Amino acid sequence: DHLSNKIAAGEVVERPASVVKELVENGIDANSSKIRVDVEDGGLGKIRILDNGEGIEKEDRETAFYRHATSKIHSDRDLFRIRTLGFRGEALPSIASVSKMTLTSSTDGQEGETLKIEGGEIKERKASPPRQGTEIIVEDLFYNTPARLKYLKSVHTEIGHISDVINRMALSHPEIAFELYHNDKNLLKTAGQGDLLRVLHAIYGKSVVKGMKKLEASSADFQVSGYAAEPGHARSNRSYMTIVINGRYVKNIAVSKAVQAGYNTLLPIGKYPIVCLHITLNPMLIDVNVHPSKMEVRLSKEQALQKLIQDSLKSLWSYDPI
Ligand code: ADP
Ligand code: MG
Repeated sequence: DHLSNKIAAGEVVERPASVVKELVENGIDANSSKIRVDVEDGGLGKIRILDNGEGIEKEDRETAFYRHATSKIHSDRDLFRIRTLGFRGEALPSIASVSKMTLTSSTDGQEGETLKIEGGEIKERKASPPRQGTEIIVEDLFYNTPARLKYLKSVHTEIGHISDVINRMALSHPEIAFELYHNDKNLLKTAGQGDLLRVLHAIYGKSVVKGMKKLEASSADFQVSGYAAEPGHARSNRSYMTIVINGRYVKNIAVSKAVQAGYNTLLPIGKYPIVCLHITLNPMLIDVNVHPSKMEVRLSKEQALQKLIQDSLKSLWSYDPI
C-alpha cells in the first residue's frame, strides 16, 4: 500500500542521487549497452534515465510499482545466488511514492506504453511509439514528504552526489556507454567499449592515468583485475578507491585495508591510493543483503582475498634489482 511504500522510500531514497543509483542499476540489470542520465537542478527539478535495455513486459509494467511484487528472492538460498544489482523489488514503488513519475517502456522494439504515476498511484496509461528500452522521468521528488525535502542540500551538493554515482557505475561497467548531463551540460561520457583505462581517463584525467599500472591476479576463489596509480599522486583523494565485486560498486573495510597495506610505506602521509579493482567471485561468497543501499557487503574467505590484493599491489611497486 501507499504508506508502506512511503516508509520504504525513507530507507531507499535518501536524496536525488539515490534515485539515480536505483534507476541506473535497473538499466544495467536490463542488459543495456547505453544509459543516458539527464538531471535538472541537482535532481530537484527533474531526473531522466534513458536506457536501451530489455524493457518491461506489458503485464509487468503495473506490478513493477507494487512493493516486492517483482522480488527475485523466493528462498534463503536465492539470497546467495544474486547476480543482478537489484533483488528486493523496492526501488520503483518507493521512488514512485514520493514523486511524479513517467515510465515509458517497450520490449523487442515493439510499440510501448507510457504510465504516469503520482505519489504511487497510476493516473494515466497510453501507448507509446516503438523503441527499445525504458525511459523514466522523475519530477517533484519529495513533493509529498516536506521534511525530506528540507533536509536536501544545495544544487551543487546534490549534483556532486549524482556525479559520484555515475562515475562509480561507469567504472563498474566499462562495457556500458554512460552519459550524464546537468542542465544540458555534459559531465561524463564514456565509450562503452569495455576499456577500464579509458573510463578512468574520462573521470580522473590524463595525469592520473599516465602512471597507472595494470594489475591482474587470481587464486582458487578470486580474480582481481584493474589499475593502480603510482603512490602519492598529487590528485590522490580519499574517494578515489573504487572496489567492484561482480559488477557491483561496494564498500568493504577489509578490501580497503588490503589496498592500503599493498601501498604500504610507499604512501606519503596524507595521500591515498588511487585504484580501481574489479573482483570476481562466486556469489555464494558474498552477502549483499546487509543494508538497503546494497553497498556494504560481507565476504567469506576475506583474509585470502586481502592477501591476494595486498601481495599483487606490492609486487607492482617493487623494482627488479638489475
Ligand atoms: P529490483 O531491481 O529490486 O527488482 P525495482 O523496484 O528496482 O526492483 O524494479 C522492479 C522491476 O521492474 C525490476 O525487477 C525489473 O523487472 C523492472 N524494471 C525496472 N526498471 C527497469 C528497466 N530500466 N528496464 C527493464 N526492467 C526494469
Ligand atoms: Mg532495482
